[in-house]
Parts: sequence; structure tokens; C-alpha cells
Amino acid sequence: MNLLTFTSTKTFRHGIHPRDYKELTKDKPIERMPFSNEYVLPLSQHLGAPSVPVVKPGDKVFRGQLIAEPGGFVSVALHSPVTGKVKAIELHHHPSGKMVESIVIQTDPFSPQTLYHEHEIEWQDLTTQELLIMIQNGGFVGLGGAAFPTHVKLSVPEGKKAQFLIVNGVECEPYLTSDHRLMLENYENVFLGIRIAMRILDVEKAYLGIEMNKPDAIELMREKMPPDLNCEVVPLQVKYPQGAEKMLTEAVLNKEIPSGKLPIDIHVIVNNVGTIAGIGQLFRFGQPLIERIVTVTGPGIQRPANLMVPIGTRLEDVLEYCGGLKDNTRQILFGGPMMGSPQVFLDVPIMKGTSGILCLTDYEVKVREEYPCIRCLRCVDACPVYLNPSRLGALAKKRQYEAMLDYHILDCMECGSCSYVCPSNIPLVQRFRVAKALLREQMAKQKQTG
Ligand code: SF4
Ligand code: SF4
Repeated sequence: MNLLTFTSTKTFRHGIHPRDYKELTKDKPIERMPFSNEYVLPLSQHLGAPSVPVVKPGDKVFRGQLIAEPGGFVSVALHSPVTGKVKAIELHHHPSGKMVESIVIQTDPFSPQTLYHEHEIEWQDLTTQELLIMIQNGGFVGLGGAAFPTHVKLSVPEGKKAQFLIVNGVECEPYLTSDHRLMLENYENVFLGIRIAMRILDVEKAYLGIEMNKPDAIELMREKMPPDLNCEVVPLQVKYPQGAEKMLTEAVLNKEIPSGKLPIDIHVIVNNVGTIAGIGQLFRFGQPLIERIVTVTGPGIQRPANLMVPIGTRLEDVLEYCGGLKDNTRQILFGGPMMGSPQVFLDVPIMKGTSGILCLTDYEVKVREEYPCIRCLRCVDACPVYLNPSRLGALAKKRQYEAMLDYHILDCMECGSCSYVCPSNIPLVQRFRVAKALLREQMAKQKQTG
């Protein structure tokens, strides 16, 4: 296969070029992790209402069996990742740092762990509504990290019309390679997922955006694309944060999404390639979302790998399977280095939205001394949503949070590009996160008091 037969100038404006460190795992095929003794399934795995348990302590459950049903429209079902017994429903450490109600399942060590009800689903005759309900009951949320319920994302609001589906195979966060491996190893699921999503959205055309640091995936997806599937593989320049919906849409279609608007406002729906592959798997085998691919990586882990991990596996079990941490490891993130969330407890579970486990050492987490702003405007050139991070940073430092609203702080997507390029080491994005949280709290209070 000739890997360098294409070029692309397609990308979005602004953004940054961090070193990607993907060489640690990009050539490592997906390994299936052995089953652990116990799993922890938080009822809040996604944005929206928590799932509602339909099992109780002592109940026997099978791998893939429903254990909690959706708690509303913006909510999804939850399934057991193993055959075993419900040990407890109790508060447990959650990756957000909070204690969250969770179903704890003890694995049956003698079970062959076959799927509860493995079967192909004849989807061609189902209505759009039936397909959406199956996706909700299959427990699907965005696997790129945001964990927004997929059936909601695929429900076009009344009065709007989708014209294109854009599948996000960008994986622009440094270190992460789970989507890359998925495209190389599970392309049939991706193609079926695209077909079903196009049917639901009633669109004629799909695009699959992949950055050019994954030439083997671009080649393979082009080569294997079924001739009757109207999906164009679009090679994109390598740039962060191209995986963000607005940036990806701009890169693929050369159309900007205005401030405060969503992709559907310009007739586009964006879905992560992992989520799309999960939909394919649901309809090919009847398998709900009970496992996902996780990249375990960084200089702090003994054996970097791409693993198929049952949802609910404890972080410490994954680290142990990968040979453990190195002595100088100082920080573990769920996700990548730009937008990942630091973990405090090693017993937190792998969630539906956990794309990677990044283990960083003393060197990467060293706090660098902050200097005054020199007005170089590198942060302005980097910001993908055209904010003025320099000005916003100055206001945040003086805690003039309300004034930040005039500079559109709520449009900040917390991508961290401004902090990355700042030669004065000003922790811009960290300050913006605090400011946004306080402003949102204040606005919610004002709404309550009328
Ligand atoms: S963190 Fe916010 S302000 Fe900084 S570059 Fe990203 S979007 Fe712009
Ligand atoms: S990059 Fe840093 S030093 Fe340069 S203008 Fe922005 S905040 Fe100031």
C-alpha cells in the first residue's frame, strides 16, 4: 500500500501544532483486556439525567444485560459489562472527583462471558424513531470524550434539516490513538454505522475527516469504502483542535459556524468515529455499549497499549495490566494532555467517554514560572474561536469576571491552545475554566431568583 499518494490543504483557521507523541501507541493493535473481579458503573456516565437502576443487590446479571434504564430523553441505558452478581448500589469515586451513585458488579469467575443476546438486527425496515430508541437503549453516548447521548445528537430539531453527516476521525489530541486503531481494525462497523446514521438523518452525503498523520487509515478507509456508500474520506492537515465540531466542519466544508450556533444551524451533524462504529456493532451483533477502546500511554506507564476495556474497569486494574506506573509518574489524566481531566483516585472506573489514560512524569507536569504578558499576541493567533485570550487573561487575573462576558468568554471551548503558545507561561485556560464556572453559577442563581 502506498501511504503517501495524497496531500491536503484542508483545515480551519488559527489553532496550534503541538508534538503528537502518537508513536508510543499508533502501531499497537487493540488488545482485549482480561476480565477483572469487579466493575463499577456510575449511573452518571453522560451529559443529562442519570440512568435509573432496574437491578438490586444480589441479582444475577449477564454480560450485555440492561442494569439501568434512561432517566429521561437526555439520558441513556446502562448494561452490565460482565456476567456476575450485583454486589451493591452505592456512592463511589467518580472521575469528576465527586462521589456518585454506582452499580458494583462482581464477576462470575466461571462464566464464559458470552454476550447476553447476540444477534444481528434487521435495521432496514425500522423507522427513524425505532432506530433512535434502539441507540438510546443501547446506551450510546459520544465516545470522543463529551459523552452526549447519541440519539439526541441524531435527532434533528423540528424546523431544521440536516444535509451532511461529518464523521470525526481526527483524534487531534496528542498521544491518543484509539480512533486510529479502530479505523484500521474495525472499519466494517464504521461503514455500517455511517449507513444507519445517514438513514436516520435522511442525508445523501457523509464525510469522514482524518488527519494526515494517519495515512494508513486514510488509505484503508478509501480502499474498503463500499461503492454504494456516499461517504468521502477527507484528508486534513494536522492541527489542534481540529476534532472540535466547529473546527472540523470548517475544515471539511469550508463553512464557519457562527458564535452561539450549532453545526445543525448550517445543516451538519458531527459524530465521532468510535460512536459510529459502536452503532454498527449494535446492529451487527446486538452488542450495547459495554466496552470501549482506551489508549494507555505517556512516559509514566511501563507498557503503552491500545486496550479494549469493559466499561466500569477500575483505573488501577488497567494500570496493573500495563505493567504499572514508573517511579517518576506524577499525574494521570483521563483523555489527552490538552483537555484531559486529572484523576485523584486510582479506584475510579473507565467511563463510556474515557478515550485515553495519560501518565505524565515530573518533567511534563513541572510548574513553570509565570511572567507578565508581553503582548506578543500569539494567543490571539492560536485561538480557534477568535477570542482575545490576552485581554481575557488580564481580566481573569483581576477577577473582573463579568467584564469577561463582553469579550465572549462563554464562547471559549477550553481547548488550551492559548496557554500552550504563551511564552510567559500564563495559565490562561485554567483561569478561563474558573471564570466560566463562576459565571455560570451566578447566571443560574439569577435565573432562580427571577
Ligand atoms: S482556551 Fe479558549 S481562549 Fe484559549 S484558545 Fe481555546 S477557545 Fe481560545
Ligand atoms: S501569548 Fe501570553 S504573553 Fe503573548 S499576548 Fe498572549 S497572554 Fe500575553
